[in-house]
Amino acid sequence: MKIKFWGVRGSIPTPGKKTIRYGGNTPCLEVRPDDETLLILDAGTGISSFGDYLMESNQPVRAHVLLTHTHWDHIQGLPFFHPANQEGNEFTIIGSNHNSVPLQKIISDQMRSMYFPLQFEELKAKINFQVLEEETITIGATTIETRYVNHPGYTLGFRITHGGKSLVYISDNEPFSKEQSDSSLNKVEKPVVDLFKQVGGNPNSRIVDFARDADILIHDSMFTPSEYKQKEFWGHSDYRFALDIAVQARANTLILFHHGPHHTDEDVDTIVENCRKELENKPYKPDCIAAAEGLEISL
Ligand SMILES: [Zn+2]
Repeated sequence: MKIKFWGVRGSIPTPGKKTIRYGGNTPCLEVRPDDETLLILDAGTGISSFGDYLMESNQPVRAHVLLTHTHWDHIQGLPFFHPANQEGNEFTIIGSNHNSVPLQKIISDQMRSMYFPLQFEELKAKINFQVLEEETITIGATTIETRYVNHPGYTLGFRITHGGKSLVYISDNEPFSKEQSDSSLNKVEKPVVDLFKQVGGNPNSRIVDFARDADILIHDSMFTPSEYKQKEFWGHSDYRFALDIAVQARANTLILFHHGPHHTDEDVDTIVENCRKELENKPYKPDCIAAAEGLEISL
């Protein structure tokens, strides 16, 4: 399985001199299992340049686009994904409904004429939708498991297993606390909160179990620990929580992801350094790196 990062930034694109090494595009990953299938994780602005790369081959493109959720930073590249407007291409957009609002409506509404000159229905590629809750599906020889995570709305994590190797992708997730389950500040939908509340002991073991023994865990690390104190209930983690999940799950490699838009390249370097320092005192030591645009990994 090959993985390439096309967008690693959370919330809003952040181009500029201070983010040039890690990149400023919002989430998008290319995942190629060792068969004919192509998986695209999230459709943030990174999907735009990935689309242009795909167009260069002049070959028909078939892919599954797996959306963790439909906040702007995870869908805002889709209208600029040019292979979707090319005859002969076929895409299946996979994600969660939002209560009574179907995934298809959420996605097509972002291209209504008041937002965008080209309407979704005019796209020339064949586009299918597949709605998931917590379940397991197969695409080619790849197994994909989903789990709701602790982020406003309905947000999925994906566990992708192929050829005995596992990649766990949790782009947006916050530590679940008992206080949160009673808080009016909590914007996570009730059915998801209830899933965390049902867990005996530490509710975050839902996430640890999901990431158990993963070869790669990609996890939200938007904040530093001091920033997190000011941003509780925003739906994101600091790198310490990401590290705790990786250690408890005994993941092989932790990839810090969804970098804060306010973080410069130097800030991300410092976060990685601090994460590695914390590891010195841990009973289990995964590798820890930060996601960067253009980073490629073979599993
Ligand atoms: Zn996000």
